[in-house]
Amino acid sequence: MEFTRVKNFINGEWVEDPNATYIPLHNPSTGEVIGEVPMSSTEASIDAVKAADAAYPAWKNLSIGKRVGYLFAMRQAMLDHQEELAVAIATDQAKHISEARGEVMRVVQIFEAACSIPTLMQGETLSPIANGINGRVTKEPLGVFGGVAPFNFPALVFGWFIPYAIGTGNTFVYKPSNESPLFMQVIGDIFNEVGLPKGVVNIIHGDPNVVEAWYDRPEVAGVCLVGSSPTAKAIAQGCGKNGKRSMLLGGAKNFLVVMEDANLDVFIENFIHSAYGSAGQRCLAGSIIAVVPEIYDECVERMVEASKKVTVGDAMNPDIYMGPVISKAAKERIEKYIELGIEGGSKLVLDGRNPEVPEKNKAGYFVGPTIFTDVTPCRTIAKEEIFGPVVSVMKIDDLNDVLGLIKEQQFGNGACIFTQNQYYTEKFISDANVGMVGVNVGVCAPHPYLPFGGIKDSLVGTNKVQGKDGIEFFIQNKVATIRVAPPEGVAECGTRVDGDKSVRSCVAE
Ligand code: NAD
Repeated sequence: MEFTRVKNFINGEWVEDPNATYIPLHNPSTGEVIGEVPMSSTEASIDAVKAADAAYPAWKNLSIGKRVGYLFAMRQAMLDHQEELAVAIATDQAKHISEARGEVMRVVQIFEAACSIPTLMQGETLSPIANGINGRVTKEPLGVFGGVAPFNFPALVFGWFIPYAIGTGNTFVYKPSNESPLFMQVIGDIFNEVGLPKGVVNIIHGDPNVVEAWYDRPEVAGVCLVGSSPTAKAIAQGCGKNGKRSMLLGGAKNFLVVMEDANLDVFIENFIHSAYGSAGQRCLAGSIIAVVPEIYDECVERMVEASKKVTVGDAMNPDIYMGPVISKAAKERIEKYIELGIEGGSKLVLDGRNPEVPEKNKAGYFVGPTIFTDVTPCRTIAKEEIFGPVVSVMKIDDLNDVLGLIKEQQFGNGACIFTQNQYYTEKFISDANVGMVGVNVGVCAPHPYLPFGGIKDSLVGTNKVQGKDGIEFFIQNKVATIRVAPPEGVAECGTRVDGDKSVRSCVAE
């Protein structure tokens, strides 16, 4: 594979920061070094902000139809480059190639939804609000936004932020994860291919310093992040000190609840997808499987049997199900949690450590499907985000019992129930203390036309991404109060008061 020296994209140009240091970029499927990523200087980050600021006035004043025209063009260009984009994701993030293709298609759908911005941005009027006074609300952009991405969804998070931010007339500086920067290297070329005006979107790579540089810049209206909860809280503090906006989606730990009347075939199929898709590195991955006593043993037996069939290997191999985790450090962290689970007294019924992989993948970062049973709510593995293919199975008394456990959780991203019963369904939707719920689905990710986001430590702040909510963070509702006084010599009713009225003659010919 060709070695890639990752570059920043500032003012429409691929540039190298002479003051950057570089860290290696790995292919997690093989452990190979496949490139290097710049840890940019604060100055380079400020240059990116300045480029976005310089582009802002013209971009803001471009007609909304023309702005959305660029979104349409990007959507088409992503379809044209779909395979190249998917391979980029499957290489550095090592998401399985079929899932990587799916992620690109999901972003295409998000761009389609964002093309409704001319409708979403329509304002409101209220007139008259007093004698001779009208009120008008216009939705306006705010300036430059910064966005920070996690490693696990290099395409999706780009889709959550950028079409909505720039479609509404803002300009953007985007920091991809240092572990999965390749997707944006292709996207930068797409910006130029569709002729996106220079500076409208800029890409900067690096450590927290490149984000921290934004907090003191007056041009920056706000910062958005998808990442872990500690990072979300750090950015909230940074933005808060200068009163900037922040939209921060944090970590997660999601319950899948299996009731006594669940269709176990449906549950098992969805459980496999939920727990092991993206090697468990999804913010909506099923992590705690809560099962009522009536079907506990059967459920565990079937989960183990199905999990043993999950094949593990190179993310580019279409014949396997699950690729590696993102890094050596992530593999070690997940293995540490497995040790903690054993030490804590939970029963390890399927051990995914050191799975069999082909010779060329021996140095890759693999953890296979792992299942603990008899897990109690106070165990570390039941409380902390593991972010890998490790599940904890818990016996619950009934629906109220598990609703109480969900309520106590630090995180509140998603929760799913498997049942045929309408009462259970409605009670779960109403009482599960999370932002997204699923019924008979394993991953309750809302479709691109609907809002996405959790509560508690899964969402620091209030704004969600996608759907109608997708633009709220990036706009202000400006209110105009307008007294329309008649000009001198004209009465309130609009009639001239000097009596010298113009005469409209209507002469018959
Ligand atoms: P992370 O928090 O380590 O890093 C996320 C991004 O923030 C990276 O680009 C990183 O370089 C940057 N960053 C780290 N520390 C920072 C700081 N102090 N200031 C500014 N930027 C900083 O997360 P990750 O390991 O890349 O991603 C996994 C996490 O993301 C998990 O916790 C997962 O649940 C979460 N996630 C949440 C959602 C959601 O919708 N809620 C979606 C995807 C991922």
